[in-house]
Amino acid sequence: MTRPRLCILLLLLALAWPALPALAQEFGLLDGDEAGAGNASQKTPAAPAAMVQEEELVVLAAPEKVGLGEPFLVRLTANRALGEVAVYWRGKEVIPSISVWNDRHVALAMLGTDVLTDRPGSLDLVVTAGLDSGKKTFRRRVAVRPKEYATQALNLPEPMVTPPEEVLSRIARERAEVARVLSEVSPKRRWSLPLKRPVAGQATSVYGLRRILNGRPKNPHRGLDFRAAEGLAVAAAADGVAVLVADHYYSGKSLYLDHGNGVLSMYFHLSEALVSQGQRVSRGQPVGLAGMTGRATGPHLHFGVSVQGRLVDPEPLLRFGAEKLLAE
Ligand SMILES: [Zn+2]
Repeated sequence: MTRPRLCILLLLLALAWPALPALAQEFGLLDGDEAGAGNASQKTPAAPAAMVQEEELVVLAAPEKVGLGEPFLVRLTANRALGEVAVYWRGKEVIPSISVWNDRHVALAMLGTDVLTDRPGSLDLVVTAGLDSGKKTFRRRVAVRPKEYATQALNLPEPMVTPPEEVLSRIARERAEVARVLSEVSPKRRWSLPLKRPVAGQATSVYGLRRILNGRPKNPHRGLDFRAAEGLAVAAAADGVAVLVADHYYSGKSLYLDHGNGVLSMYFHLSEALVSQGQRVSRGQPVGLAGMTGRATGPHLHFGVSVQGRLVDPEPLLRFGAEKLLAE
C-alpha cells in the first residue's frame, strides 16, 4: 500500500470510529455485563494482514447541559482494554463496570443532581482510565441549568406534616439508615435503560413539585407518584438486590433495590413487600403490593431513584434509552 492510501485508510477509520461505540453501547445496555463474556464468537476476526495498527482511541461522551434534578449518563469507549475507570462527580467516586463488545471496551456511569441539595451552576466532571499507555484523565464542565417545577398545596392531618415529639428520634434513625443504604456503591452494574415502569398507572405527582403542606413550604417531592390501587403488584425497575425492606414513619412499608454502580430504586407506601432483604430480583418481577402505609392520603406508589446518593427525577429513566441521556 502506498503512503497516501494508508493515510486515507487511517483517516476513514478515524471518521468511522464515532459510529462504533454507539452500537457497542446499545448491546452493552440490552445485555448487561455478560455481553462481553458471552460474546467472544462475535469478535471481529483480526484482518489477515494487519498492516494497520489501529491507534489508541478513547472517547468520553457526556451531556454539556442538564436540568437540575435530571439524571444523565457518562460513557467512556476505548479500542484498547480499559483498566480501572473512575468517575468523579459532586465529591463522589464511581467505579463503573466495563463491558466488552467487538473489541470496544465500554464504561458507563449514571450521575445526576438533586433538586433539594444541589444548585444550578457549572460543575466539574472528571473521568480517569487506566490504559497500557498510562493513566488518562478527562475533564469536562457540565452546566446544571435551573428548572421550573410546579407548586402543589396539600392539606394533611397535622401530625403528618409536623411529626409528634415522640417520633422524632425514630425519624432520625430511619433517615440515617436510608442515607447509609443510598451511599453504598456496589461494583456490578445490573441496571439497563429504559427502566421498567413499576406500575402501569398514570403519574399523579411529578418529581420536583414544591410542596406547601398546611400552608407551609416543605421539601420538594423527590420521586414520582403513580396512581395504584391497594394490592396492585409493583414491578422491579431493573435487575438488582433488595438492600432494605423497612417500615418507616414517612414512607411506610418501603423497599430499596440496589441496581449497582450507585443506582438504587425505591418503592414507598406498600401494603406489603414481596421480597426479603438480600434477595436478588429481576427487572419486571413483582416486588411489592401498592398500599397507603406511612404518610399517604390514599393508595398510590411513590417511586424514587437514587444516583450516587442523590434523588433524581425517575421520569427520563423510564422513558429514554442510553443515547438520549448521553446527549444534550
Ligand atoms: Zn411521592
